[in-house]
Amino acid sequence: MSQRRSLIAGNWKMNCLRADGLAIARGLAERAKTKGELACDILVCPPATLVSDVAGVTTGSAVNVGGQDCHVAVNGAHTGDIAAPMLADIGATYVLVGHSERRADHGESSTVIRQKAMAAHDAGLIAVVCVGETEQERDLDATLAVVNGQIAVSIPEGASAVNTVVAYEPVWAIGTGRTASVAEVAEVHAAIRAELTARFDDGDGFRILYGGSVKPSNAAELLAVPNVDGALVGGASLKVDDFWQIIESCA
Ligand code: PEP
Repeated sequence: MSQRRSLIAGNWKMNCLRADGLAIARGLAERAKTKGELACDILVCPPATLVSDVAGVTTGSAVNVGGQDCHVAVNGAHTGDIAAPMLADIGATYVLVGHSERRADHGESSTVIRQKAMAAHDAGLIAVVCVGETEQERDLDATLAVVNGQIAVSIPEGASAVNTVVAYEPVWAIGTGRTASVAEVAEVHAAIRAELTARFDDGDGFRILYGGSVKPSNAAELLAVPNVDGALVGGASLKVDDFWQIIESCA
């Protein structure tokens, strides 16, 4: 098995005015600088309004900055959207694509998400491609079919372990306080790993994150599951202490 370095990623969603966002970013950058060698990579994805400022205060620290979405095009008549090169231009090195809130709120299909991942790659960004089943799909025993289908379509042919991270986030566990069980996480992550290794020469090297109500009290248990190579954290990434405890839960 290849050595995969874990990634703990924070998704701030549509939260934080400038002062709050900068306080979180400074807090994390300070700790990253003083704590020495860390066992994982760190990423924060602030709202687009703060990417530049957060990149400014985290420069030179181990904290990476990403966008929460990008358009499929590099520029053009797309009012309100942000192109991947624009994110790269202001200091982002990652971008989330296909978060379930984008899929639900903006009707994004896996086909569009693949195009977004390609746009991210073209701009030199690492795409964090999010997948996950709804509660109804899980109740219908369709979890693996849904997730495998999302993986098959959302991840472009040009993906590699270097330019792509997968995040498995059961929709019913996001922001609900409900977490998938260790057995559920292990089953889905193993299925994703099998899809990736079947399709990509370096499929064993892709990092697969778990997301869905990760917090300090459950992080260590989730991060110890085979094929879990980090976490995508929403609510708990808005508190420096909580997010740092999750970072420190990486073995
Ligand atoms: C997320 O937004 O991707 C997420 C997992 O949120 P939370 O940790 O709040 O469930």
